[in-house]
Amino acid sequence: FDVYGAPIIGSNEKLRGIVLVFHDITELKKLEQARKDFVANVSHELKTPVTSLKGFTETLLAGAMEDPALREKFLTIISKESDRLESLIHDLLELSKIEGSHFLLNWQEVDLHEMIEDVKMMLQEQADKKKIDLKTKVMGNPKIEGDPHRLKQVILNLVNNAISYTPEEGNVTMRVREQAETVLLEVEDTGIGITKKELPRVFERFYRVDRARSRNSGGTGLGLAIVKHLSEAHKARLDVTSEVNKGTTFKVTFYKKGWKRKKTCKSLQ
Ligand code: ADP
Repeated sequence: FDVYGAPIIGSNEKLRGIVLVFHDITELKKLEQARKDFVANVSHELKTPVTSLKGFTETLLAGAMEDPALREKFLTIISKESDRLESLIHDLLELSKIEGSHFLLNWQEVDLHEMIEDVKMMLQEQADKKKIDLKTKVMGNPKIEGDPHRLKQVILNLVNNAISYTPEEGNVTMRVREQAETVLLEVEDTGIGITKKELPRVFERFYRVDRARSRNSGGTGLGLAIVKHLSEAHKARLDVTSEVNKGTTFKVTFYKKGWKRKKTCKSLQ
C-alpha cells in the first residue's frame, strides 16, 4: 500500500482529525515485476545464441577453419543459431506490435475452412518429415469476422506446436465447426501432452515445459503468448485441455460472422 495523510483543521484552527488515503499498489507492483522479468528473460534469450555465435566464430578464426569437417560442423551451428536469433527477434517484434496501443485488426470476412486448408499446405512438408498425419475436418459454414493475416498466425502457431510436440507417426487434426452463435476451431494432437500443473502457464511469455526440447524444435517460447493476445483481440475464447502422453487440444471459440459487435463480447472471455 501507498499511504497519504492530511490533517483536517477546524474553523478554530484546532486539529479535528486526519485523513488517511490507502492506495492499493499490488497491481502496479505486479506489472512492474512482470516488466522486469520480461526484460531479464529477453536479455537471457538473446544472450544465449549470441554467445554461441561468438564462440564458434572465434574458434573458426583461431584455426578450426583449416579442418574441413570442423568448419562444416561449426558453420552449420552458426547458421542454426542465426536462424534462432532471427525467429526470436521476429516473435519479440510481433508481440510488442500486438501488445501496443496502436494495434488494429484488419476486420474482414474469413472462411476458416479455406484457412485451415492453407495452413495444411504450408505445414504438410514439416508433418511429412515426422510421418505425422495432418488432417482437416469441417462442419457447417465456419465463416467469422477477423484479420486473415493474424488468424493464420494463430493457426500456424498452434499447428506448428502440435507437430513439434507430437512423436513420429502421430496425428494432428485441425477442426472447424459452426455452432449456434460461434465457430469453434480446434487443433488436436496425439503428442506428449502437458501436465495439469503446467497447463495454465503455457501462455506466459518464455514459459516452456521443456526448454531443451523447445530449443531443438526451433521454438522461441513466445508462440502461445502471441496466440493468446491475438485471440483476445478477436474477442475469442482460448481453452486448452491435455493429457500427458495422450495429447493436447487447443480450442479457439470465435463469434460467428455478424455477431461480433451485436452481442456483449465479454461473455466469451
Ligand atoms: P515454444 O516456442 O517453446 O513452442 P510456445 O509459447 O509456443 O513456445 O509454447 C510454450 C510451451 O508450451 C512449449 O515450450 C511446450 O512446452 C508447451 N506446448 C505448446 N504446445 C504444445 C503441444 N501441442 N503439446 C505439448 N506441449 C505444448
